[in-house]
Amino acid sequence: MEKALKIINLNKIYRNNIRALDNINLTVNKGDLFAFLGPNGAGKSTVIGIISSLVNISSGEVYVLGENIKKNPDFVKRQIGLVPQEYNLCQFIPIEETMINVAGFFGINRQDAEKRTYTLFNQLGIWDKRKNTPRELSGGMKRRLMIARALIHDPKILILDEPTAGVDTELRLTMWEFFQEINSRGTTIILTTHYLEEAERLCKNLAIIHKGNIIQNSSMNEVFEMKNKHTYIIKTSEIIEKDIILKNLLFKKVDSTTCEITVTNNMTVTEIIETLKLINLNVLNIISKRNKLEELFMDLTKEEITT
Ligand code: ADP
Repeated sequence: MEKALKIINLNKIYRNNIRALDNINLTVNKGDLFAFLGPNGAGKSTVIGIISSLVNISSGEVYVLGENIKKNPDFVKRQIGLVPQEYNLCQFIPIEETMINVAGFFGINRQDAEKRTYTLFNQLGIWDKRKNTPRELSGGMKRRLMIARALIHDPKILILDEPTAGVDTELRLTMWEFFQEINSRGTTIILTTHYLEEAERLCKNLAIIHKGNIIQNSSMNEVFEMKNKHTYIIKTSEIIEKDIILKNLLFKKVDSTTCEITVTNNMTVTEIIETLKLINLNVLNIISKRNKLEELFMDLTKEEITT
């Protein structure tokens, strides 16, 4: 099946020599509601900028609905609606006019643009404000206007860069419902976020980016399974003959007196030691082995506490 997005060996080095993307590969299926998750500075906006033709590629290829973005930028721009992180609204124009103007860039006539504005403003609850300028709108209304503006040309792919950052809980829930609604009608949605909860609630599939590397590109379920597992490296006083099959834990022999034990989070170290005792292995030493994903989740949690 043709992919909504396919990124192959993509690199981005900014002028100050910062390597923002280190040879990343990523695919998003058509019709997906996809989370692009990572802590601040991981490279999310750089990827979004590249897909939206706002940032140049250092090397690699990006395909949107099968078309190469370098070879066919106009086609790609037509397929994408972007809601950037920062407000970039014209402050002095009534918001209804902003919609008509943007529609004009896509060759949509005034009458059609008015119809579409009516639908979108109603869906997003800002129709009453159509004669106002962005200066007169609250933060949440401006955000909704930016979403409406990104959808004026009925794009196949909607890209949301941290859409709910700084948005109150009630509006966040309304926005989530709206995203689910347009996704169920066929729009592919790519959502960048550093809120784990947002990705978990909305998305079936995700990629996790960390320091310019994609460290996971899978279903949400797989991630939560991994997150709930933990591995310990254990030294035993007896010789380990071979791998042992045990209930509730995964046993892997490393050498004659070392093994790795993987358990789900709800098993305690004491329980592990007792389980091993039952098969005549006494634990001399036990250390926790943290995987990349756990480190990342720690980073994400730290950020959520500080922001
Ligand atoms: P995220 O969106 O995940 O917070 P970014 O893509 O904004 O991450 O940033 C990735 C890295 O690239 C960071 O180290 C950031 O400082 C750097 N960076 C982003 N934009 C620029 C730019 N225009 N010039 C130089 N460095 C940049």
